[in-house]
Amino acid sequence: MGLSLYEKIWARHAIAKGAGERSLLYVDRHLMHDGSFHAFSALEASGRRLRRPDACFATPDHYIPTRNRAAGIAGIADATVRGRVEGLESNARKHGVMLFGFDDPRQGIVHVVGPEQGVTQPGMVLVCGDSHTSTHGAFGAMGFGIGASEVAHVMATQTLWARKAKTLRVTVDGALTKGVSAKDVILAIIAKIGTAGGNGHAIEYAGSAIRSLSMAGRMTVCNMSIEAGARCGMVAPDDTSCEYLSGRAFAPKGTDWDKALAFWRTLPSDADAKFDREATIDGSALVPQVTWGTSPEYGGAVTDVVPDPERESDVVRRESMLRALAYMDLAPGTPLAGLPMQRVFIGSCTNSRIEDLRAAAQVLRGRKVSIPTMIVPGSGLIKQAAESEGLHRVFAEAGAEWLGAACSMCVGTNGDLASAGERVASTSNRNFEGRQGQGVRTHLMSPAMAAAAAVRGAICDVRTMLD
Ligand code: SF4
Repeated sequence: MGLSLYEKIWARHAIAKGAGERSLLYVDRHLMHDGSFHAFSALEASGRRLRRPDACFATPDHYIPTRNRAAGIAGIADATVRGRVEGLESNARKHGVMLFGFDDPRQGIVHVVGPEQGVTQPGMVLVCGDSHTSTHGAFGAMGFGIGASEVAHVMATQTLWARKAKTLRVTVDGALTKGVSAKDVILAIIAKIGTAGGNGHAIEYAGSAIRSLSMAGRMTVCNMSIEAGARCGMVAPDDTSCEYLSGRAFAPKGTDWDKALAFWRTLPSDADAKFDREATIDGSALVPQVTWGTSPEYGGAVTDVVPDPERESDVVRRESMLRALAYMDLAPGTPLAGLPMQRVFIGSCTNSRIEDLRAAAQVLRGRKVSIPTMIVPGSGLIKQAAESEGLHRVFAEAGAEWLGAACSMCVGTNGDLASAGERVASTSNRNFEGRQGQGVRTHLMSPAMAAAAAVRGAICDVRTMLD
């Protein structure tokens, strides 16, 4: 029987068997951010050194400010936040880790920077102390988030104990229609299979709609695999992924590139590979999506109304829906389109790439925002690219705030938070209670939908604004 992409990568990296069906995996790449301080402390306390500094790449993202960047690290007013950024930079220098630091134009969100620099490559096992490491699966890599003690283990050994996941193939066929993006695809997948739908599984996304996505779109889809409960999400490497990687700083060069290409071509799942589960979605039937609750699975089409928990037969889910509606201050039957928003956040490792910014600019060009709108590029290089295309002028003329690369209001650890009671139209990946600030109500959507909400001051169907 043939092997799936996940099984092929697993087989190449499992180097020892352990107790409880665990295997020791060799780790090709370890990405680090400014939340990695615990692991560096643990490594030093144990008297060990980094096993493979050359396989580690670091950039500050969670704590780095989006404003007042010209003042440098010293300009960060909050001493704790400043310490996190300084700590990563000093640890990286001390241990010989490649650093894309505060003053480096390559700095950005770790899941944006890795692919952008060609650090992420097909067939690799790649880890990071952040849940959304699944993003890197867009290249046909096995990328997953790990906890602080696991980070310290990888630092010391370049290996990790892990259990092999089951496989779930999600096939999305059909052409996406105008106004429907990769974010809508993954929100629709999560709404269909649920936040536990991928539990214990590695998801492989397949089908014509997935193949037609750019690498940015594939990263958006794989990024939110973790929100479906999956260990990782993957797309088989193809011409699109190889073309993206060609010429990137840390991608193979010369004859190494030819060898890598030949290897990458062997990675797609065999035609007779068996998956433990299968799910299908008709991509051509999708419309722009938006969430109404406090879980990414609580969402639907922008043309829908807020569902009625009393119609839910599963008691546990009904209780969860009731809690979500109470937090979100929403009544069943309320149309999603027209729901007033108080703030917009366009950014995060889900949707901060140049394609996402272009989609937002397409809506904002020649229009004005009616509520505070933050636009946060995923890296300094994306910021430069957007400015060379004049997108920053589109945003400024619309009245939106154009900021420095960071995680920003995805999680707010740098201080970029909304106020209690505000509804935020957000392109990030989590709408949990308090994710963007205590009492803040997050509605997840695509960059184009968020830009439309910024103009209207309410959720609206972006398709009405694209002609
Ligand atoms: S943007 Fe959000 S999800 Fe992504 S790495 Fe930063 S905090 Fe995590």
